[in-house]
Amino acid sequence: MNPNRGILERTGKSSAGQLQAQWARIRGRLRSELGEGAYRNWLKKLSLIDLQDGELRLAAPTKFIRDWIAANYGDRLRALWQAEVEAIRQVEVVVAEDHAAAADGAAPAAVEAVPGGNGQDPSRHALTAALDPRCTFEDFVVAKSNELAYAAAYRVADSRTVPFNPLFLYGGVGLGKTHLMHAIAWHIRKKNPQRRVIYLSAEKFMYQFVRALRDKNTMAFKEEFRSVDVLMIDDVQFISGKDSTQEEFFHTFNALVDQNRQVVVSADKSPSDLDGMEERMKSRLGWGLVADIHPTTYELRLGILQAKAEKMKIKFEVPAKVLEFLAYKITANVRELEGALIRIGAHTQLIGRPITLENTQELLHDLLRSSDRRVSIEEIQKRVAEHFNIKMSDMHSDRRSRAVARPRQVAMYLAKQLTPRSLPDIGRKFGGRDHTTVMHACRKVEQLRAADASFAEDIDLLRRMLEA
Ligand code: ADP
Ligand code: MG
Repeated sequence: MNPNRGILERTGKSSAGQLQAQWARIRGRLRSELGEGAYRNWLKKLSLIDLQDGELRLAAPTKFIRDWIAANYGDRLRALWQAEVEAIRQVEVVVAEDHAAAADGAAPAAVEAVPGGNGQDPSRHALTAALDPRCTFEDFVVAKSNELAYAAAYRVADSRTVPFNPLFLYGGVGLGKTHLMHAIAWHIRKKNPQRRVIYLSAEKFMYQFVRALRDKNTMAFKEEFRSVDVLMIDDVQFISGKDSTQEEFFHTFNALVDQNRQVVVSADKSPSDLDGMEERMKSRLGWGLVADIHPTTYELRLGILQAKAEKMKIKFEVPAKVLEFLAYKITANVRELEGALIRIGAHTQLIGRPITLENTQELLHDLLRSSDRRVSIEEIQKRVAEHFNIKMSDMHSDRRSRAVARPRQVAMYLAKQLTPRSLPDIGRKFGGRDHTTVMHACRKVEQLRAADASFAEDIDLLRRMLEA
């Protein structure tokens, strides 16, 4: 295979074959000088183009590799070539695509070939984990609990400067940290594709580092990280306790921040709460903007469900009631919400039955049980009494005036809805009432809900407060 397409014939002093032999010799030298790892990662990727008028040209597969080789091995390459061919004054490394385009008579590409949105350029993004196409800013539902994190992430992605460094995102599992980081990467790829972005989990970072140590290739590792415009490391809590990786992360971090490159970090805790992390690291992580994502609210969960259901609409229709029910019940994290929706969808498609509240409950009984909130009857009574401005003691009393009877019925209804207690149990907690009284209360409230929208809203509000 000769990639040089006869260009070498025009080199004058050396024949193409001679030049290739000299190149092979130089590569052998570099390999023994630099070690196998660095050689394989960088210099092996070069190929010889030609020698013209004292200028020797080499092709690198990407701009990144070209820049890096030029900066780190440029002098060495020239010295080695000059030792082989005295007439060489200059060694130039060009990007392969540009060269190929020029050689084919097409206009040379002005900039490097950038990944066209699919991010699959393996050499340029070798370290970057795959990005989830569903995790964009457009797909992110914003509410009070996550608006700061969202706004900060968007700002980082959208601006050409570095607005705050680092951006530290933290919050519990499944609240959208990874989603926001992927969204940053997608946004930059679309808007400023020439900016180099690396996104990876702290675990992967650790793994890469350990591998670089093993291959005696830490220089290349460092350089690769330190030459990015935006570095995002997800779940840094995993780095804590691992001393050498932590050390390396710290240096990489400092190098990037010092060069005014953007760093984005996520964790499950705030910087100061990261156990097993060195003090100087904790403090450094808190220097920029720390944005926490709070647990979801009912509204956010419903919003997310509606957005996801909208996307699935072509496949199946989910009644609003079911979405509300799921938003009430599944509070742990968003991933579970999505899982529930997918499960319902899969089931209805297989069975061919429409989705109802009943079959949803049946289908998801395991999920629902584990996320039951265990609100107590006392809590319900207290809240309802407060809401209707009656005394707590009226929940147990015999008074039958509408002003106290109605709130009492509401509390019984909510007790039935929100606790696993039986009707007799509930009756006992309301001043030793009979289970038929509780049943009657439940029916009455259902009727009122159906007939009176503002009453229904009131009940929903109460329920939400109890579940929050
Ligand atoms: P984390 O990294 O914080 O554990 P993820 O970003 O992986 O959480 O989120 C879990 C799932 O929930 C993902 O599928 C994500 O798309 C989704 N998700 C979380 N928050 C939101 C949100 N506000 N809007 C839309 N989807 C969300
Ligand atoms: Mg995550």
